[in-house]
Amino acid sequence: MEFSSKLLENAVQEMAQLPGIGKRTALRLVLHLLKQPEEQTTHLAKALIDLKTEVKFCKKCHNISDFQICEICSNPNREKKMVCVVEDVRDVMAIENTSQYRGLYHVLGGKISPMDGIGPNQLNITTLIDKVKEGEVNEIIFALSSTMEGDTTNFYIYKQLENLTIKTSTIARGIGVGDELEYADEVTLGRSIVNRVPFENSLKN
Ligand SMILES: [Zn+2]
Repeated sequence: MEFSSKLLENAVQEMAQLPGIGKRTALRLVLHLLKQPEEQTTHLAKALIDLKTEVKFCKKCHNISDFQICEICSNPNREKKMVCVVEDVRDVMAIENTSQYRGLYHVLGGKISPMDGIGPNQLNITTLIDKVKEGEVNEIIFALSSTMEGDTTNFYIYKQLENLTIKTSTIARGIGVGDELEYADEVTLGRSIVNRVPFENSLKN
């Protein structure tokens, strides 16, 4: 791609770093931004910088938050002894949208995936095990997507919990194998949390 301006080229190159954005799309977006009032583009740039510099990860559940402890963890009406294990903030949002779950979350920050070089140490697993050891949790609900990586991660955590007194369950699979949680409709997802099954049962099939 030949650019008539170095500034234009830089902006397109930065935009094209985003996942799913090719050079052509990047160019279209950049030209769109150029047409917008300056104020609007400044707001966009500021929102991105603020996000990067100010956002926090909850000290208890690792969810993205504006505070040291997120609003879910600090809510006195939540059931503190029940912890739903999810991959990332999108799953928290999906489950919250169902209004069927009143416990807390633990955000792993990904799934075990040797192909992508992600092992247990790259994820927030130790802090979860520590919570259980300290007696802060009665029940753990696994709510990872039922992909191979999701199953591997569930099983790894389950093994770590083996000698500890804890109830483990997994969300019922109205959700098909390989489906990501965030794409499940609210009713199905809500029902699958209410109808969760003991984790041991999920190992048999
Ligand atoms: Zn939290």
